[in-house]
This record gives sequence, structure tokens and C-alpha cells, in this order.
Amino acid sequence: MSDAPSVQPSLNEIVSLCKRRGFIFPSSEIYGGFAASWDYGPLGVELKNSVKQSWWKDTVTSRPNVVGMDGAVTTHPRVWEASGHVEGFHDPLIICKTCGHRFRADKINEEQCPQKPSKKPHECGGELTEPKNFNLMFKVHWGPVEDAGQFTYLRPETCQTIFPNFKNVLTTTRQRVPFGIAQIGKSFRNEITTKSFIFRQREFEQMELEFFTHPNEAKQWFEHWVNARKEWYISLGVRASRLRLRQHDADELAHYADDCYDVEYQFPMGWQELEGIANRTDFDLKRHMEYSKKDLSYRDDLTGEKYVPYVVESSAGVDRTVLTLLSDAYDIDQAPNDKGEMEERNVLRFSPKVAPVTLAVFPLFKKPPEMVELAHKIEDDLRLDYKTNYDDAGNIGKRYRRQDEIGTPLCITVDHDSLQDNSVTIRNRDDMSQIRVSVDQLRSAIADQLKEMSKPRA
Ligand code: ATP
Repeated sequence: MSDAPSVQPSLNEIVSLCKRRGFIFPSSEIYGGFAASWDYGPLGVELKNSVKQSWWKDTVTSRPNVVGMDGAVTTHPRVWEASGHVEGFHDPLIICKTCGHRFRADKINEEQCPQKPSKKPHECGGELTEPKNFNLMFKVHWGPVEDAGQFTYLRPETCQTIFPNFKNVLTTTRQRVPFGIAQIGKSFRNEITTKSFIFRQREFEQMELEFFTHPNEAKQWFEHWVNARKEWYISLGVRASRLRLRQHDADELAHYADDCYDVEYQFPMGWQELEGIANRTDFDLKRHMEYSKKDLSYRDDLTGEKYVPYVVESSAGVDRTVLTLLSDAYDIDQAPNDKGEMEERNVLRFSPKVAPVTLAVFPLFKKPPEMVELAHKIEDDLRLDYKTNYDDAGNIGKRYRRQDEIGTPLCITVDHDSLQDNSVTIRNRDDMSQIRVSVDQLRSAIADQLKEMSKPRA
């Protein structure tokens, strides 16, 4: 992939491109939108699926000691008492007595007064309340009777459906510690502030791994996963220079955690958490043992030792990864227009591993019919192995620009010569170079170029 210097877009530019090209739309737009809810369009869902499939392959199917599961969004409410969420899953809430706006006390310096946006909430003259704890879980009625006894919570994280299933998975898979259970799914948090596009939503998707180890081996597995997780983002084409690992200070560490690192990305709004990796000790399994009165300890059949395993957790956000890929791929450079004059070009430099469309196929003109026929034939064949797009509308330069803006790595054009010599043009998104290849050699030429474009970026 090109290492050409690239621009750091604003969040507004990303939001607008996403809407314009069909990656992500404001939810319920025809009703005026719905705060912090976003719908993924045709290109967005491809990007999101690539993220999830790559994570699943890297975390689960390529490893002998990790298995998957898919737990329910709604569980017995005791799960959230045991996990500590009922008691302690709070953010500190501050309300402006003047305008009634709500802020997170710990993020107040990043906020603006909604009435006087040039000022921070405490600088605008409004009187702020003292912080009070606000529980982020959504409480929902459960069952047909809306009485106080029948309620549960929408899960605020996926991992708490993994711990209660520890024994079920252990006995049915015949895994031995160390081993992991992974899950991808929706989580819900009643966030106080929800700006920053898909970075902070009330409904979002997580990719979580709980890796169970012997207490003496937890430190070593923790180091393994911290490094493996950062490498995964680099493997998706995210620039290493815009990623960093940040260790939590002692005062920031959750009371049960022994150590924690965040993978952070340099988003348009600054360095922010993309994922957390924590050594959660034996806290979760012990709490579920206490609340359920079930034995969740592990007996090593080789040594005879019985213990409650430690857990190393990796907790990543699907949506934050999508925003990372969009921010990292976004670029503006110069390209010649139809008259040969240079003009600005918007381009998403996605790795072919995640690009929503990998190959676009065009006939140069809609006539003669043989040209269209050959282009369709080539696309039909390639569609079996690649995500393809057929386009015959508008001049060829505009078609290239459209594909550049959605991040398609290669465009294949069928022209008059193709009908004579069975050759086509492959045009590269990043350097706009064009090569002529015979249709018989097309697949290997595509594979070579995609391999080159999949190389990690510095
Ligand atoms: P933050 O400090 O940004 O609120 P967090 O520390 O509460 O994040 P975790 O509980 O560690 O987040 O959740 C793990 C991951 O889930 C985060 O790193 C992020 O990628 C994702 N995530 C958490 N909350 C949200 C949200 N409201 N919207 C989108 N993704 C989220």
C-alpha cells in the first residue's frame, strides 16, 4: 500500500463521505434522526463484516486454544449483580442548572457549552451541579407483565455471558487451561455524552476474548495478547505510527485488575481508546461462583491441581475499528481530470483485506454489445472470489474517481482492443498506474497487485 504522506481528515469530513457514499447513515433520518444511533449502509456493512471476520479468524479459528460462542443480549439480572455492574457501572454526571445539559464530569474539559460553543461548560457562566453517579445500564421490562419484579438489563459488555458458560464450554469442547472463549456481539450503554460519530454510541458492537490461564502464567499470556492485539490492527493496514499502547496508571486500574493496556489510535479528535487488554485475575469467575453457588474452578487432570483460573481479557470495539480504518485510509491527493488538468482527488487507501469492493469492472463504452458482454463475463468470474462492482455509467475518469472514493484497490477496464487481443487494463488506486494484461493472466496479475497493496504501513 502507498506510504505517501496523507491528510488527517476532520470527523465531519468522514461523516460526510460515509453518508455520501453509503457507508453509514444517521439512524431514523426521515424522522429527524435518533441521538447516537447510526445505520450501516451497503459499503459500511462490508467494511464492518471484514473487521469481524478478520478478528474471528485471527482470534479463534487460527488458534488451537480459542473457541467461540454467541450469548444472549439479555440474561438473568443476577449476572449483573455478580459482575459488579448494578453496583458500580457508573459515570459521574454533572448537570448545568442553567441550560439543563448533561456532561460527564471526567470529560468536562473536552466539552463545549451547547449555548456558547466557544466556551467550556464551567466557563460559560452556567452553574453546574456536583457530580453524581449515573448507571449506564439500560433496564428493560421482561415478559408480558410490566410489574417491578420482571426486568433485566441489556448487556453493557459481551464478556459477562462468557463467564457463566465457562464450565459448559470446558466440558463440551474438552479444552484444557490455558484456553480462550471469544464472542462478537452488540452491547448497550446509556452513555451520558455521545458525540464523535460511531466512536461513542448507546448501541455498539464488541469483539471480546476471555483467555483463562493458570494464575502463574497470567502475566506471560497478558504480554502475548497485548502485542498480538496491536499487531492485528497493523495487519488490517492501520499505520503503526498512529497506534500506541498505553499502560493504565495504578489509580486508573479497575480494583480487580492486575494490569491493563489500552490500544489507542490517533483519531481526528486525538488519541483515544480503541481496545482494552486487562489481566482481570480470578475476579469474575469467583464472583459468579459466589452469586450462583456453582463451582467454576478448574481441575488439571495431569497435575491434579484445582484452582480458579485467571482471565486475560481483550475487549475491542467493532465500530471504533471501522472508524479507525476510515480515518486511516482517508486521503486527498492530485489526479488529472478529463482535460489533463490536475485536480483534487478523494481516496480511501484501504488495505484489500478490508476494502468493501476489491475489484471494479468497467466496459469503456456501452457499445458494441460484445464489450459489455466481455466485461460482464469477467466480473461474473471474479465475483466467485472477490467483492466486485460493475459500472458502465458516465465517463471512465468519473468512474475511477467514484471507486477511489470508496477505496476500491483495482479497476479493470474492457475496451475496443480487448475484443481483438483479449487483453484488459488494470488500474491501481494508489499510484493510478495502468498495466495491460491478457485475460488469461488477469487473476495472477490481480493477486500480485493486491498482495503488494496489503503490505503493512509504517
Ligand atoms: P471509554 O473510556 O471510551 O468509555 P471504556 O473503557 O468504557 O471506553 P470498555 O468498557 O473497555 O470501554 O469497552 C471495550 C471497548 O468497547 C472499547 O475499547 C471500545 O472499543 C468499545 N466501546 C465501549 N463503549 C463504547 C461506545 N459507547 N460506543 C462504541 N464503542 C464502545
